[in-house]
Amino acid sequence: MSFTDYDLNAVGMALDLASLGDGTLSYPDLVERQRDMFFEHGYRGEEHIQTRLAGIGRRIAGLLATPAEDDFLDALAILLAEQDCKPYLTRHDGVPHLHFARDAAPFGEWVPTMAVAGLVLYVCRHGRSRLRRCAAAGCGRWFADTSRNSSRRYCEHACASRTTVAAFRARQAKKTP
Ligand SMILES: [Zn+2]
Ligand SMILES: [Zn+2]
Repeated sequence: MSFTDYDLNAVGMALDLASLGDGTLSYPDLVERQRDMFFEHGYRGEEHIQTRLAGIGRRIAGLLATPAEDDFLDALAILLAEQDCKPYLTRHDGVPHLHFARDAAPFGEWVPTMAVAGLVLYVCRHGRSRLRRCAAAGCGRWFADTSRNSSRRYCEHACASRTTVAAFRARQAKKTP
């Protein structure tokens, strides 16, 4: 299985929106994580649309958490149909590539359109088994597991090592009477 950066940029944005929506990622953290993606496309992460983005994020988090595959796909199709989504061939950075929102679309339109289209493309190619929530206590952010054997449980190294340290301390505490 191979993931191109472009696929992952858009699905990463969808997952960060999902984390924003269910309160595991703050808006400033989302802007920080998506800074390159936003800047490359002429956006700076305008704050006045964060409520709208959190709303879309809650929808994405809700559908990702839907157990039945058919219900999940139905909800995803509805969310896609609600976006002002159309394929555009763009060369905004000199390299021809596909966008799903027109160049210079309002930020509050561009983010959901690109994110939802990216999520749909990703799910059609790879399914959703690798889209999961971080297993670390107190985190719970959504991430795409791109590991070869699909075994990642944590969104980032910090969450994995925090969990390892906590498990070690718990074992030590058990040993000492
Ligand atoms: Zn682009
Ligand atoms: Zn995490």
